[in-house]
Amino acid sequence: MHVTAIIAAGGAGRRIGAARPKQLLEIAGRTILQRSVEAFARHSRITDVIVALPAELVANPPDWVDRWAKVRIVAGGATRQASVAAAFDILAPLAEVILVHDAARPFVSEQLITRCIEAAGAHGGAIAAVPVRDTVKQVIMAGDERTIAGTIPRESIYLAQTPQAFRRDVLTKAVAFGRSGADGTDEAALAELAGYRVHIVEGDIENVKITTPEDLERARRREAQSAPGRVGTGYDLHRLVEGRALVIGGVTIPFEKGAFGHSDADVACHAATDAVLGAAALGDIGGHFPDTDPRWKGASSLDLLRQSVSLVVDAGFGIENLDVVIVLERPKIAPHVPGIRANLAAALGISPERVSVKGKTNEGVDAVGRGEAIAAHAVALLTQFVLCSES
Ligand code: MG
Repeated sequence: MHVTAIIAAGGAGRRIGAARPKQLLEIAGRTILQRSVEAFARHSRITDVIVALPAELVANPPDWVDRWAKVRIVAGGATRQASVAAAFDILAPLAEVILVHDAARPFVSEQLITRCIEAAGAHGGAIAAVPVRDTVKQVIMAGDERTIAGTIPRESIYLAQTPQAFRRDVLTKAVAFGRSGADGTDEAALAELAGYRVHIVEGDIENVKITTPEDLERARRREAQSAPGRVGTGYDLHRLVEGRALVIGGVTIPFEKGAFGHSDADVACHAATDAVLGAAALGDIGGHFPDTDPRWKGASSLDLLRQSVSLVVDAGFGIENLDVVIVLERPKIAPHVPGIRANLAAALGISPERVSVKGKTNEGVDAVGRGEAIAAHAVALLTQFVLCSES
């Protein structure tokens, strides 16, 4: 069955108070429009997607549109009804079921789209809607006074969402009705006016419409909480020479050699610092603490790690965990692992249970294996916990 999704994004939607049209505001890295369109483009039962955009955007569409062969763009109208009519005019001849979706609902689920497709196929027209949970009052308005005329049985009240799905013949009549001057706040209203019985499909309370700045803030917080996190990797190597202390993770380990470098040459801290900075895409240790700067000569690398953590926290991230591998031939670091973990954890501001430190030899191979150098690898996971304000 050929199923087309029409995404109505024609309005400028500046009610939200931002400089950009509402549909171009981002939630966790993707715009509201992109999220809405991709929910349908990704769906296996959707054959093609027509997006009705404001004229200014049609001339300069977002880059991601090109990634989807099944997505087409059309200039929308001043109202949702006009935008849907414009999209209707370029429907593929074979389109049998058409879903209309409001671009301001970016969290539409795959299951809800499927339910709408099936209900439209079975009944001709069906919309997503959610039952009212609160008691509903009929109110009489007289000037500033509001009094209750009665209580409406809430079982009979549903709040309309989108998608709204129709067989082609039904939508054809609804659009024609709209063009003849009828004014519907949604496509279902036009289909009702045209005499069709439109069915209700169980909607989804997560399928919210982003209308106000508070809606946007709530949506961003929700996405930030459910985000998988950001991972970063770090690597460091220093030569081992006589006459230097061997400092690993802030622990001075008795040995005949130490790591050579401008600071204390602590490979565990340096790799950890790069992992943490890398996960936040905030550059690297050399950029923040250049060894040409006398301020960092002999600096404690635990301090540099601590300062890097501050940068990352200021950028809105929290640190979940750190895993470090230290590669050196001698001495054995096992006895010092608890101290290294405790130091790294303190610098990161997390508990030692979230910090792992492993020792490894290089089996006598290459400079590390010959005991001429020490190296470390680190991986850090960050979660985003502060939201940047948008305009
Ligand atoms: Mg280093």
